[in-house]
Amino acid sequence: MDKIIVLIGAPGAGKGTQARLLQERKGIPQISTGDIFREMKTLDTPLAKEVQQIMASGKLVSDNVTYRIVRDRTSRSDINGTYVLDGYPRTAIQAEQLEELAREQGKDIQAIEIDVPRDELFRRLTGRRTCPVCGEIYNIYSKPTKSDNVCDLQPDTQLSHRSDDNEESVRTRLETYETSTAPLIEYFDRTGRLEKIDGTGEVEDIYKQLETLV
Ligand code: AMP
Repeated sequence: MDKIIVLIGAPGAGKGTQARLLQERKGIPQISTGDIFREMKTLDTPLAKEVQQIMASGKLVSDNVTYRIVRDRTSRSDINGTYVLDGYPRTAIQAEQLEELAREQGKDIQAIEIDVPRDELFRRLTGRRTCPVCGEIYNIYSKPTKSDNVCDLQPDTQLSHRSDDNEESVRTRLETYETSTAPLIEYFDRTGRLEKIDGTGEVEDIYKQLETLV
């Protein structure tokens, strides 16, 4: 049966990096609510402005807006089998809404927790840099580019530093994770749909653990 693979983990746990690898290497489409909201930020609509403010503060966009977006994206014709959700669900209500979506789409949910200790997350987030062209993710401490702040894959492209990767927003995002999202781990565990991988160490080693589960 087709699945909805839910990557669950704190901001900075590596959900985006791993979801991108699943997409590149296994052709499993990746849907990242964070990426969708970041794309939206550039639009000149009231909703886009609101999303921009919420993201900058590190808080969460409302459950209903987020659900509508996830529903739209996952109903497109290019997503007809298993897909990966990166950054969704993040609240108990979103988890309920996802259950309904999975029923409608006739898919099972498989949750995979990427576990990283809290003190490492802070360093990962504040050191993170992203290529605005191809989306490749670097880190000034653990995965630097070959040439200073220029993407290894896109010549002459300067990396960007996410505006919500500043210390204050990072603190809010980690707190929001603890209160709203971490309880979902227990929820998926109780319902027998949780697997866990160790998110510390090399990207490739983490991917090897993930690959055996999907
Ligand atoms: P991310 O790239 O997953 O860290 O998401 C960046 C930001 O987008 C979050 O801090 C939220 O403001 C917003 N966001 C992403 N996913 C969700 C979600 N499932 N529910 C609400 N807001 C979200």
